[in-house]
Amino acid sequence: MNTEVALQFLSEAHKAGRLAQAYIVGGDPKTTGAAFAVCLLQRLFCGAGRGAPCGACAACRHVAQRTHADVLWVEPQKKSRQIGVEQVRDLMQRMQQTAYTGTWKACVICGADRLGREAANAFLKTLEEPSGNSLFLLLTDGAQTLLPTVVSRCQTVMLDAGETGYTAWDRELLAILAGHAPAEIGSKLLAAMTQAQRMIALLKTVKEAAADEVDEAADGEVTEQENETLDARASARFRELRTGMMRTLLRWYRDRLVLACGGDEAQLVFGEHGAALRAQVRGVSGSAALRHVRIVEDLHKQLEQNLPEALVFGCGFPRLASV
Ligand SMILES: [Zn+2]
Repeated sequence: MNTEVALQFLSEAHKAGRLAQAYIVGGDPKTTGAAFAVCLLQRLFCGAGRGAPCGACAACRHVAQRTHADVLWVEPQKKSRQIGVEQVRDLMQRMQQTAYTGTWKACVICGADRLGREAANAFLKTLEEPSGNSLFLLLTDGAQTLLPTVVSRCQTVMLDAGETGYTAWDRELLAILAGHAPAEIGSKLLAAMTQAQRMIALLKTVKEAAADEVDEAADGEVTEQENETLDARASARFRELRTGMMRTLLRWYRDRLVLACGGDEAQLVFGEHGAALRAQVRGVSGSAALRHVRIVEDLHKQLEQNLPEALVFGCGFPRLASV
């Protein structure tokens, strides 16, 4: 199922009060699956009170950054690559606590196929004793290996693989871009610097995730020489993710250019952020918007030349604000 269609489907179920307690989300838990979970939970928690999540309010940002008090994320442990029974027990306990925001309590299990048998059985107990307004999302790219007893208690949403090419990191970048509203924060320059700081912090997280991903794939003890290979692989993976994110950044500024030149929202890549984009280009001329696109292209070139991210964005974003 296309991600947008799946989101629409679940949003409607939510509005009608028919949301199931647990969904198996078939897709890569690190990319499409995680992005789907973030988008769906933003719909549940967004404080802006519109149909679609704003992506910019505190609740939306906390969901994207995995810091929302009512959303628990569970990942396989590094060494065993399994989700252990202790993790599940801890989770059950935390799910029983009252929601901080007074509405939903959600749990995202990244890699549900990594639940060991004991852990899966402990988890089943939770599903058998449903408590109101709790939602479990079981992300997995190996739904066929889940225990039939787990499958029978969940609804399944199968996502198309890599349909958009956007990763969870791209979605977080979009949240940073959409949340950029100079008028609210104060001076344009200060806002640009704040945005640069968030971008630099995000890239740092991406770098760590790339290293973790490579380490996990290596699985176990490695020699010093292998270690060097792993480092090289991690840095290649990071550059790949970063290039994707720079493409997203460029498309964002391309959308601003479209609007600044009088185009309409149907022509946007990120139509769902139409309102934020429109607010950002208020008073921006077509030629200024074109110069912004050129600056973003420059930033990408500077990164390719191995200039440090802190320098590139720390100078680049204020430059964007001053045109
Ligand atoms: Zn929101």
